[in-house]
Amino acid sequence: MGSPWSELLANLAVVAMFVSVWIHTHVWLDRRPAVVKAAAFGLLMGAGAIILMLTPMQLQPGVFVDLRATMIAVAGFFGGPVAGIVAGVMAGAFRVFEGGIGALAGAVGIAATMLVGIAGNLALRGRAPTMRDIMILGAATACGSLLGLSVLPRSVVETVLPEVAFPSTLLIFVSVAMSGLALYQERRRIEALQSRRIFKAVVETLPDCLNVKDLDGRFIVANPATAELMHAPDARALIGKTDFDFYPSETAQVFRADELAALASGVSTTIEQHLQHEDGTDGWLATLKAPFRDRAGTIVGLITHNRDITERKQLQTELAESQARLGDALTHMADGLVMFDRDGRLVLCNAQYRAMFPKTADIRVPGADHRDILRASAARGEGITPPDAVEAWVAEIMALQTQASHRQIRLADGRWLDVRTRPTGDGGSLSVFSDITEAKQVEAELMAANEKLNLLAHRDGLTELLTRRAFDEALAREFARGRRNTTPLSLLIIDVDWFKRFNDHYGHPAGDECLRNVSRCIEATARRPADAAARYGGEEFAVVLPETDARGAFVIAETLRGKVRDLGLAHAGSEKGIVTVSIGVGTFDGGADIEIADLLRRADEALYGAKAAGRDRVHGWRPHLSEPRSTGSRRKA
Ligand code: GH3
Ligand code: MG
Ligand code: MG
Repeated sequence: MGSPWSELLANLAVVAMFVSVWIHTHVWLDRRPAVVKAAAFGLLMGAGAIILMLTPMQLQPGVFVDLRATMIAVAGFFGGPVAGIVAGVMAGAFRVFEGGIGALAGAVGIAATMLVGIAGNLALRGRAPTMRDIMILGAATACGSLLGLSVLPRSVVETVLPEVAFPSTLLIFVSVAMSGLALYQERRRIEALQSRRIFKAVVETLPDCLNVKDLDGRFIVANPATAELMHAPDARALIGKTDFDFYPSETAQVFRADELAALASGVSTTIEQHLQHEDGTDGWLATLKAPFRDRAGTIVGLITHNRDITERKQLQTELAESQARLGDALTHMADGLVMFDRDGRLVLCNAQYRAMFPKTADIRVPGADHRDILRASAARGEGITPPDAVEAWVAEIMALQTQASHRQIRLADGRWLDVRTRPTGDGGSLSVFSDITEAKQVEAELMAANEKLNLLAHRDGLTELLTRRAFDEALAREFARGRRNTTPLSLLIIDVDWFKRFNDHYGHPAGDECLRNVSRCIEATARRPADAAARYGGEEFAVVLPETDARGAFVIAETLRGKVRDLGLAHAGSEKGIVTVSIGVGTFDGGADIEIADLLRRADEALYGAKAAGRDRVHGWRPHLSEPRSTGSRRKA
């Protein structure tokens, strides 16, 4: 046996050796399940504990200590419960197999240190141990190992404890700290390695370019994306080269100038760079340049990160172009266009839209509320909304925004606008305003022309009474109605007396004027809406009087006769000295079974009767009258 110091060193060396074996071999087990790796660690530490038990240190003659506790505690603490149990069971089994009076004490000590190691591991809850944790482990392991002594006979403890307790505690503490430190460093190394591997993988797979250059612009490190961007075969091909080896010199010069600027400023900057390749293609990069410093803080290079934004740039350009085109279209279209969003805010409008509403152009701008615009328009008298109906009108217009609509609005200044509204996909609306004032005018003129045409077709040119044709239609209509409703209907036939002589005496134009005057009297007499008066032919007139019986018709006819007399138109050819008319009245009483032709004939016959009776009078039709003249019309008396 050598000096206690050499034994001590030998024991520590065994501990160190086993820990070192693990440090150098555990990577072989990296691909195995964690439990296998833990068991292997426990196995190795258990073997170490057994070797240590085989080579104990003799502190005093007959007093031996060893460092098994270190191995067992370290196994549990760094390897977890599985490793701790494997090492503990191995060591315990060996100690029991050795036997002797200390067997039980040894087993208890082993169990205690095993529990210390495992408990320490569990207490970490997965986090990495710190140096402080390792110191606590050393102290706890030493205490656990002492626990074994408590089971020895009291006499033995009393003699052994004072001599063993302190040195063994110290040794265990030191050895735990030593191996803990080694394993702690190993763990740190593995973690660093792993994070470096992760970092490397990230850099390698990053679609963005990442590289570091020295102060002269030579690549020190570059990722594959950089090589791809620069059309180089791989990242290694870039090392030691500069941009001048890959880009046209003008491009490289610009890039170098950017780098020098970043180096000079000393801070990271982001810039957009236009890229021109040797093969003529080009693109855009968003580039971050960050000076790279050594530990002393001196700038030794430049980190570059760039992203290909060619596509984004293209989209931006296209967007700008299409916006310009849209703006162009909006500016040059003849119609006014306005768009509101779902909240009724004006999103977009063109100048024409604003020009169409000169009184409110100032508030018809993006961001304005549709309701406010409408209220202002009403308040400023732009439209023709009555002041007390403004809110209802606003609500109506707002409701129109949610559906497709087409309407025409009239402004106070007389203009007409055609408005087509369509809901947009996002809940807003789009309206197109067209000025249709001119079209409206044309429409009005057309309607007036039509009216005139209608008049020409249905009105007599001289008297403006109905033409015979229009009268026949009116008569047929009223006759059918009378028959349907069994209401009476009367017909007057009016003839100017001695009119041939009037013409002969005063001339044809005077005759025409006379006819116009008579027709005014007829118009003034047959005044009910359904009454229809016509120039029936030559100087003969007819009036249909719906819902009028013979008595009523007679009264009207008498009124008319009086009106003509009252004109007092001189008629030299008449014995009366003035223009007079004779009137025949025919009546359909609503129930009788007669036709229109019968009615006409009756009125005609009555007129004949009036002429025969001396003119300037009204005659009704009487049945006896018709008997002898059933076929004829009146003839000169
Ligand atoms: P009577 O009292 O029996 O009716 O005698 P009359 O001369 O009026 O006889 P009749 O009704 O047959 O006369 C028709 C005349 O009316 C013939 C024509 O000279 C005249 N006449 C017919 N149409 C027009 C017209 O459009 N203008 C003018 N100025 N005269 C017309
Ligand atoms: Mg006549
Ligand atoms: Mg006549």
